[in-house]
This record gives sequence, C-alpha cells and structure tokens, in this order.
Amino acid sequence: MLHIDPAACVDCGACVSACPVGAIAHDSKLTPEQLPFVEINAAFYPPRPPGTKLPPATKLAPVIEAPRVAHRQGGPLTVAIVGSGPAAMYAADELLTQDGVRVNVFERLPTPYGLVRAGVAPDHQDTKRVTALFDRVSRTPGFTFFLNVDVGSDVTHAELLDHHHAVLYAVGAPNDRRLDIDGMGLPGTGTATEVVAWYNGHPEFTDLPVDLGHERVVLIGNGNVALDVARILTTDPDVLARTDIADHALAALRGSRVREVVIAARRGPAESAFTLPELIGLTSRAEVVLDAADRDLVLRDLETASDPFVRKKLEILSKLGDASAPVRRPRIRFAYRLTPLRVVGDERASGIEFTVTGTGEIRRIDAGLVLSSIGYRGKPIPGLPFDEVAAVVPNREGRVIDPDTGRPVPGAYVAGWIKRGPTGFIGTNKSCAAETVRNLVADYNAGLLTDPVQGRRALERLIRARRPDVIDAAGWHAIDAAEIDRGGGDRPRVKFTRIPDMLAAAARASAPPLHRRVLAGLVR
Ligand code: NAP
Repeated sequence: MLHIDPAACVDCGACVSACPVGAIAHDSKLTPEQLPFVEINAAFYPPRPPGTKLPPATKLAPVIEAPRVAHRQGGPLTVAIVGSGPAAMYAADELLTQDGVRVNVFERLPTPYGLVRAGVAPDHQDTKRVTALFDRVSRTPGFTFFLNVDVGSDVTHAELLDHHHAVLYAVGAPNDRRLDIDGMGLPGTGTATEVVAWYNGHPEFTDLPVDLGHERVVLIGNGNVALDVARILTTDPDVLARTDIADHALAALRGSRVREVVIAARRGPAESAFTLPELIGLTSRAEVVLDAADRDLVLRDLETASDPFVRKKLEILSKLGDASAPVRRPRIRFAYRLTPLRVVGDERASGIEFTVTGTGEIRRIDAGLVLSSIGYRGKPIPGLPFDEVAAVVPNREGRVIDPDTGRPVPGAYVAGWIKRGPTGFIGTNKSCAAETVRNLVADYNAGLLTDPVQGRRALERLIRARRPDVIDAAGWHAIDAAEIDRGGGDRPRVKFTRIPDMLAAAARASAPPLHRRVLAGLVR
C-alpha cells in the first residue's frame, strides 16, 4: 500500500495522472468503500503540531539510477529477458530508458504479461490496466517480442548468451507449494492457484475439473490468493459477466451450488496473511462472516495488537456478520487456528479434518471442494543453480551466484519472484527489476559481459527455425484487438483460452489480405 504524507504533499496531482492503475485519488473523490483509506493513510504518519515545516526531501525515497551505458564497439548492449510479467516488463522499461539498448523478450505463451493476465482477478480490472503501460514499453524502439517460444526447450540458455550480452530471467514462480497431507489429490481437491489460472483463461488450465456442485468449498491458507478465489466463487455471475473472466469459468459459476467458502488459517487473526487493502475490498463487496469462537479470537488479539495495520484488520474482522445467521447469498467465512490434518472421502473429497492448532482436538468441515492456497513456488531454470529450500535462483541483488564458488555466473541475472520469492504486489517488481538492471549495466560497463558472437538476423533465423509460429508484437496486438472485439463493448475482452485460436488471431496480423479472410473464416 502507498501512503502520501498530507503535510508534505503539494497537491500537484501528477501522481494521480501518472499511476498506471489509478491507485491514487484525491480524498474528496473517494467512493464510500474507499473512505477507510483516509484514516489508514493519516495513521501512517506521526502526529505533528500544526504548522510544522517539513524538509522537502521527506516525500521521496532516494532513487538510485542505473549507471549510463558506456557504449562500445561490437554493437549495442543487447539483453534477453525471459518471461513477460511485471518484473520482465519493468526491467525492459528500465533498460530502454537509455539510447541504443536492445531488449528481446521471450515468453512461453502466445500472450504476454504473466500474472497480470493470468493471476490478477477478473473483477480487479483497474489493476489489469497496468498492461497499457506494458504495451507502451513494448512499442519502445529497441524492444522485440518473441512470444510462443519456450526458453529451455526451443532455445537454450547458452544459445541466448551467444546472441546477447546478458540473459535476465523474470520467470516468476510458476508452481504451487503443495500441501502434503493424506487425501490431497483425490477428486474434489486442488490448489487455489490452479483455479485462478482456470478462471483467468490460462490455456493450460482450460480443462481443469472444478466441481462447484456442492454447498461448501474450503480454502487452506488466508493470503490474498485465497481472498481472490473466495470472492470469485461467491460473486454474482451477472457481475462477473461484465469482466474478462474466461467463458468456461463463467458458465461453471452460473451453475454453481456453492453457498459458503471457508478460508481456514492455521494461525490466529493477528497473523492473517491477507493485506489490509484486500480485506477492505473483500468486505465491501462480499458477505463475510465469523463464528462465535473465531470472533472471540479476534477480540482477544485486538487487546494486545500494537501494529496499526494489524489493529485495523482486526477491527474490520471484529465487525463481520455472524455465521449463525441464515445464509441469504453465497458467503465467505474466516476460520482460525486450524492446522490441516487430512482430506476425508473415498472416491472424492467430502470434507477435511483439522487439528485445532497447538491442541490434539480434531475438527471436521464438510466440503465438496478443498483447495490449498499456501503460496507459489519457483522452479529450476535449466543451466542455472537453484536453491531448493527458498525455491529461488541464488543471487546477489539480481546477479546469479554460483553457490559452489560464491561468484557471479557471467551474463545471468534474475528479477521478480524467481529472485526474491513469491511476495509483494505488482509495483514491488519495479524496484526489484531496477536493482537488477543497475547491476547488469554496471557489469557491462566494467567489461564483464561477453559481446554476442551472433547478430540479430542470426537470432531471428534460429528462433524461426525452432519455432515457426513465433509471435511478435504485431501478432500480440492482433490477438489483443480480436479479444477486445469479442467483448462486444459490454466486456473488457473475451479471452482466447486455446492456443490454436491465439495463433490464428496472431496470424491474421501478418497474413496478406486474402489469406487473412480465409483465416478469419476458419476461426469463426
Ligand atoms: P501468502 O500470502 O504467502 O499466504 C500463504 C498462506 O498459506 C498463509 O496463510 C500461510 O499461513 C498458509 N500456509 C503456508 N503453509 C501452510 C501449511 N503447510 N498449512 C497451512 N497453511 C499454510 O500466499 P498467496 O496468497 O499465494 O500470495 C502470494 C503473493 O501474491 C503474496 O505476496 C500476495 O500478497 C500476492 N498477491 C497479491 C494480490 C493483491 O494484491 N491483490 C492478490 C493475489 C496475490 P502462515 O502465515 O501460518 O504460514
């Protein structure tokens, strides 16, 4: 969350117009749901006597700029970025602030922007607006997309290094952390992150079996992902029908019998993993309840909590409705101090048993769908070291480090979740990527990066030979335009959820007019 010092702010409004996701608003223009943020913002700053003069520098954290690229013979600084989510696009943006730098972005899917497209919930369209910024970056001179290319199988790390000074991996944390208890794996169990990918139309999750034919869903873990999934499963489908939720998910939600989603945490209310803004967003849209025992835990934590954010969360939790009230519409229930023990059921899940944390007491909750929501996990990158415990590539401020020697691996860099683990929000990746780029440019200037042995044409030939259906920026813009068109003005877009449909839409961008008409007919 961002805070603005009301005493130091000069009210110029520049941040309001610059914020790519519209997160900053004047306090006189807030909606009723946003009003709690006035108090939260004020509480962040210490009380000051009226008329206190602040030094002008208090508003801004020091900005450390990347060193200027010291151009040299042998061609411009050329960087391959692997992945196209926020960390990748912020790194590209940072590199391209300098003249003459070239950036090639490689992405496994035919569509870019990683979790902004496939992770951010469809009812958070404001957050997805950051893609307009990324589209602008992709149009910067020196930027090239190589979409639908899998680094590691279509082209190796060594081959990329032959064609670039450096390879920067911003591949995120694509796996789930798995909950290792009996019964996980039965039909009716799964992970929240898979469900997120499913409702966001990720092509590899289109056919995920999500059975909404039972009255209760249990989510294990109470981070922001659990809140997103719970909200989507309980929101009126007519509201979701105005978003870019995948059509298959919308159809399943229209037929859903789910009446209650329980979000079960192993610790107490004060340790809730969700963030304050997300809790405010949830409680202003959904019906959220607590049972009497959990309300007691909240009130007990309120007596001792000193952190203002934790206190605010607890105050909101303490005012939630009562779980004993009749269920009028699908609702969400927070539950605390429940350590998962085993999923029960023979052919499929019928519920889950927990121990009450720290005791031997067993508690069972009946449910037709049990989803673990205990975080993402990075996966190893072929050719680079990997820290199995932290599930990140070992690095020092973005420079990949060989754990055996403690020295940097020449030409290899990381940014985003594969660098620091799956934490933070989209904007966190901006400073994270900037730090990596700063070190990459310093290494280039110090002569530590080997000039590419092959030129740009050779790279294009190599990629086309390996991946004839590679998609460039024009191809992506054609997919984007076709999806927006399918939205018909009522929805932001209707996503393609099958790769052949994406490829056909992209092909229309490069095909001659007659061919384009034939393709259009084929797709329809
Ligand atoms: P998360 O915030 O790390 O939460 C993980 C949850 O799983 C915690 O409640 C944790 O409890 C629990 N957990 C871990 N291991 C467990 C186990 N063995 N048994 C039971 N519970 C266990 O993860 P996330 O929700 O996947 O979110 C990932 C990141 O994405 C976060 O930084 C999140 O803020 C961000 N995100 C942000 C937004 C947004 O801003 N709108 C939306 C989605 C995601 P303990 O605390 O007890 O370990």
